[in-house]
Amino acid sequence: MTSHRPTADPTPGATYRPSTAHTDLGPGYFDAVRPAVFPKTVLRYRNQRWAGHIGLGDLDEAAWIAHFGRFEPLPDNIAEPLALRYHGHQFRTYNPDLGDGRGFLFAQVRDDQGRLLDLGTKGSGRTPYSRSGDGRLTLKGGVREVLATALLEAFGVYTSKSLSLIETGEELVRGDEPSPTRSSVLVRLSHSHIRFGTFQRLLAENDAARTARLVAHCIQHYHPGAARGGDPAQEAPALLEAVARASGAMVAEWMLAGFVHGVLNTDNMVITGESFDYGPWRFLPTYEPGFTAAYFDETGLYAYGRQPGTVAWNLERFAECLTLVAPVAPLEDALKTYGPAFNDALRRMVCLRLGVAAKDEAADDELLGAFFQFLHSSKAGFERTVFDWHGGAPRRDFAAASPQAGLYSGEAFMRLVKALEAHEPRGWTAEAQAYFEGAGPATLLIDQVEALWAPIAERDDWSLFEAKLAEIERARLAFAIPTRGGPSDGRVATAPAL
Ligand code: AMP
Ligand code: MG
Repeated sequence: MTSHRPTADPTPGATYRPSTAHTDLGPGYFDAVRPAVFPKTVLRYRNQRWAGHIGLGDLDEAAWIAHFGRFEPLPDNIAEPLALRYHGHQFRTYNPDLGDGRGFLFAQVRDDQGRLLDLGTKGSGRTPYSRSGDGRLTLKGGVREVLATALLEAFGVYTSKSLSLIETGEELVRGDEPSPTRSSVLVRLSHSHIRFGTFQRLLAENDAARTARLVAHCIQHYHPGAARGGDPAQEAPALLEAVARASGAMVAEWMLAGFVHGVLNTDNMVITGESFDYGPWRFLPTYEPGFTAAYFDETGLYAYGRQPGTVAWNLERFAECLTLVAPVAPLEDALKTYGPAFNDALRRMVCLRLGVAAKDEAADDELLGAFFQFLHSSKAGFERTVFDWHGGAPRRDFAAASPQAGLYSGEAFMRLVKALEAHEPRGWTAEAQAYFEGAGPATLLIDQVEALWAPIAERDDWSLFEAKLAEIERARLAFAIPTRGGPSDGRVATAPAL
């Protein structure tokens, strides 16, 4: 066996380490705001594992609700919530009327590797950027974000984490949900909420000084490898390169998760290359490049197969912002690292998803090509195929009993088997065995999401939601994919630097 998986979940025991680093940026980047006062605060989801990683695992329920439902500041943390300022391109149209309109930066902590983590909100009330919006999140929207983040993490996507979901007792009106509909407030963990759009706003204001300051801040806290002695003309291209590489990896992770983000606007891309902000997301039932998640995406701009090109376009918009402080040529060079980083991560992820050890570039590329060609020509279930063949060629007998075994024949299939045979299986743990020899994969196809929402809406029955989260957790432990930026518990291997 050439690689190892953790044998058990780490025991989180980190200490709480508060930070107010974002306020060091000074004026011009955010506005202090007040949270909404909600008529009711009912805890619906608490991510105990991630609470443990940031030293908040011991909060009792009353304290949890005080901090994440009423937004009483955490000790020695940001005193007043900060609505972050940003602009962005939405469906390729520039919109200066953006900014945190229903969320804010509530707190910051250092994780167990000493890196900064933001506790950001969604649905916490109106801000100067709410325009005509109510500043609220529907309960269904919150439930969908909790589910998406959990499954993406299990599938090895470097995503924001959902820390808390509290139902808030208001009635909301939405065009895309039967209304009135229930309300909630979400707290998410993401290393940064500094968006491409944060820089775009500074470009629109022609503010080179604040751009240089933000570049330095991003390097200090998120991309220390891009430091070049404090000279923005050199540091901005180095930062761009780090962001391009991280973004390339993020898209590759989506492609191998069969995930369609749905709203790839530049205000939904952060400089850490974390996947975040989940609205109309979908997972693919079967491979389909044109599969579009958002009903309002009429041209399919953000379809599954267009995600790599879209993120490249977004990176170009980010690069333009940096021309305020750096020459064009090195920025253009930095952008060129996106493609190779995307391809490297595709190879890495196809091996991890199929449970085989990486071999060499040619063999891993062949596995990638064979996997997608088979999915395309057979229209086999995306996740069912991953599940049946996780562990590589030795899974032949198991796959022969699959509900889609009838699709396992023909030329494209033979190519996939051959490519799998060229790879060693990854180590097999008790968790992997229990999951991969079970009934089937953990999935969140749209019908399943609707089916688990229905009992919540009809009779406040959360049992299917809880059962789905438990199933996703079993999948996470079984795949045991070392994600970029994963917790350092001594057992989960850190991904190679990208
Ligand atoms: P999103 O589509 O969630 O990324 O949000 C795009 C922009 O619309 C951001 O500036 C949000 O803060 C704002 N926004 C979205 N929903 C609401 C809402 N219900 N109330 C206020 N602002 C909102
Ligand atoms: Mg957004």
